Amino acid sequence: MLYKVMDKNVYQDFIKALISNYEFIGPARKDRSVHDFVPIKNISELDTNYMRTTIPPAKKLLFYPTEKLVNYEVGKSIDVKPVVESKERILFGINAWDINGMNFLDELFTTDFIDENYISKRKNLMVIGMDSQPTETNFSPSMGADYAKSGFDIYLTELKDKYFIRIGTARGNEIIQKYAEVRNATAEDFKDYDKYLDDYRMKFKLNVDIKNFYDNFELIYNNEEFWKKVAKDCYSCGSCNLVCPTCFCFNIKDDMELNLKEGNKIREWDSCMIPEYGLVAGGHNFRPNKENRLKQRYRCKLKTFIDKFGKYSCVGCGRCIETCLAKINIAEDINSVKREVSV
Ligand code: SF4
Ligand code: SF4
Repeated sequence: MLYKVMDKNVYQDFIKALISNYEFIGPARKDRSVHDFVPIKNISELDTNYMRTTIPPAKKLLFYPTEKLVNYEVGKSIDVKPVVESKERILFGINAWDINGMNFLDELFTTDFIDENYISKRKNLMVIGMDSQPTETNFSPSMGADYAKSGFDIYLTELKDKYFIRIGTARGNEIIQKYAEVRNATAEDFKDYDKYLDDYRMKFKLNVDIKNFYDNFELIYNNEEFWKKVAKDCYSCGSCNLVCPTCFCFNIKDDMELNLKEGNKIREWDSCMIPEYGLVAGGHNFRPNKENRLKQRYRCKLKTFIDKFGKYSCVGCGRCIETCLAKINIAEDINSVKREVSV
């Protein structure tokens, strides 16, 4: 990691240079309360001062909601061509918990099987991170995701009259060398950064008691009354999956032309919370009940990947809490598991 400092008065020139030289994606206001990551053509469109971000989250740039994977032509033989779309882009202004969400997806899409469609986009994505203000539903410190150690090329932290810059890759260093006026960080800069981090962490108000969840969950697992109570109001709409920066389930479908000579295999986001998710041929459904689906979602988020990767597949962003019309709240439910076991 390299540590540099940029004065605030050259920040705008840096951003303008990036906008003119790259396809630049950054946060812009979408409506009164939500921002989205969109292509930015002019610095005036960029608004890094966001709280509620990006529904869907930035994973949409790497793992498209709908994506062509394969094109095929049916003749004497079947000609199959993979479709891998990818281009160099800058993703600017993504916060630490969402970078950690991408880091999780990186591991997922390169373990057991390399997903070319995902990884080619990820390699071409230059990530410039920046802190954003946490919402009241954010519990990322409890999940160890409020700070990004990797997964970015450059991370900018805004201090009083300067930006403290962490450079995570050679590519990030090249960008800084080419487009920014910087100097090496001094002991004084580190002191200011350290103070900033202490203050920033104080802004996260929601804590969850996740420490013993791994074992406690097993005791609660077969407690039908508990899960019926937790899932009572669930509409099985799947919104919690769609807004989640780490949910990765997808469906593959054939999209055949009317001439029946060519077609595409299409991947689309799927949701483990909808009743059709567990439906198989013959009409059998492995998970017909909403309480079983919610229980399984929590297992996936909070246990399965501790076994597989040593990390949660929840970064505590709070989006699912804000999106759920039934007010189902993963943070409260983690704490309820703890309470249920403790009484
Ligand atoms: S938990 Fe909420 S967002 Fe998720 S499926 Fe149920 S009602 Fe929809
Ligand atoms: S489960 Fe909810 S809080 Fe956790 S990462 Fe997904 S959307 Fe964010």
